[in-house]
Amino acid sequence: MLTAIVGINWGDEGKGRMVDLLSEDYDIVCRYQGGNNAGHTVINDRGRFILNLLPSGILRDEAVNVMGPGMVIDIEHLTHEIEALRDAGIAITPKHLKISDRATICMPYHKLLDCLEEDRLADKKFGSTRRGIAPVYADKYMKKTLRMGDLRQPELLKEKIKDIMEWKNLTIAKAYGHEAITPESMYEWLMTYGTPFLDYITNTTVYLDQAEKAGKRILFEAQLGALRDIDFGIYPYTSSSSTIASYAPIGAGVPHLKLSNTIGIIKAYSSCVGEGPFTCELFGEKGDELRTAGDEFGAATGRPRRVGGFDVVASRFGTLVQGADVLALTKLDILSYLKEIPVCTAYRINGELRDDFPAIDELNIAEPVYESMPGWNCDISKCRKKEDLPKEALDYIAYIEKSMGCPVKYVSVGAEREACIEMF
Ligand code: GDP
Repeated sequence: MLTAIVGINWGDEGKGRMVDLLSEDYDIVCRYQGGNNAGHTVINDRGRFILNLLPSGILRDEAVNVMGPGMVIDIEHLTHEIEALRDAGIAITPKHLKISDRATICMPYHKLLDCLEEDRLADKKFGSTRRGIAPVYADKYMKKTLRMGDLRQPELLKEKIKDIMEWKNLTIAKAYGHEAITPESMYEWLMTYGTPFLDYITNTTVYLDQAEKAGKRILFEAQLGALRDIDFGIYPYTSSSSTIASYAPIGAGVPHLKLSNTIGIIKAYSSCVGEGPFTCELFGEKGDELRTAGDEFGAATGRPRRVGGFDVVASRFGTLVQGADVLALTKLDILSYLKEIPVCTAYRINGELRDDFPAIDELNIAEPVYESMPGWNCDISKCRKKEDLPKEALDYIAYIEKSMGCPVKYVSVGAEREACIEMF
């Protein structure tokens, strides 16, 4: 069985939380794109964890976790992430973690260039997490990056980094006027943070292919959501990788394998970090109340997230491009304070009512059409069965199923592992 767990919205849907819960039924959990711009929060009996690079299955001793070739890996960050988990008693050995030999290394100068460019853009900035993700993916497609497998050949690596820095310093020093970065310092960084991972480096194509043939169940964990996808999202305010389920087998190293099913994680309201059009955004008191109720501050950056009501138009597009078979509706408990729940049901563009999610040119001028649905206005965080939920909550779920054209199989009513209702 090959399952993808993906985000339907702008990210921060609670994917980490759902992967942590559902990974019980899987042998392998695999991250297939992105880097440490992700911030997956997991709360379980072992504590509260924020995972940036590691797959969320790392918190289960029996799961094998894979970081696929589609990822960009800051090995210094990974070192610290692993140290923090080990301090909390989590075992991480080459048995638990396999890192693709083809995954790209995100270097300190990628982070630097991310910051230099955001600073140059000033009030036109993209709202980057400043963790080097766009620069490293750009270099990947320029074919000027290092991969995890390069760490196995230190002498060749020394030559490669010399050539790369000669080229990279043209931008760092000549374009941005920043002090040039020496190849020696980068080589030292690679040796310090890379060498300890040598035993983890794996050909994930061979590993996952054999695992699948042996009947192992594989869970692919996405980062961010459909609306942040490089092709289908709100470009250019997107991430630099594909967040889409159909990319999962490619980014994991097994493009020849087909997904058995896709679980779309969809949030009961909307949130969005950073810049770009966010049509359903709620401002003022309404926005502040929702942000506080949902504790909407970025896990990776601490930045306050923009919030809005459930966006039917954007979420239906997200459900479509993800090819979701079922949905997991998260954070329904957050709406419990509302007597009336605001829902963005359509966009108005140049006076015309629209229910398709447009590209950025039209999205920039779209206005939300809001309706409201009756709230349940009581605590639902202790509900564990469908029958425990109040009628208004069931109606809200039914509305989402109908408007998305996809069944809601899970309803999450709290951040803890067990705070989830299986609907069928
Ligand atoms: P991810 O990046 O998609 O994994 O999502 P984040 O971890 O950035 O954001 C989700 C946040 O909501 C985390 O703090 C979770 O602990 C929390 N969370 C997830 N599901 C629920 C839920 O159903 N109810 C509540 N109250 N919190 C939730």
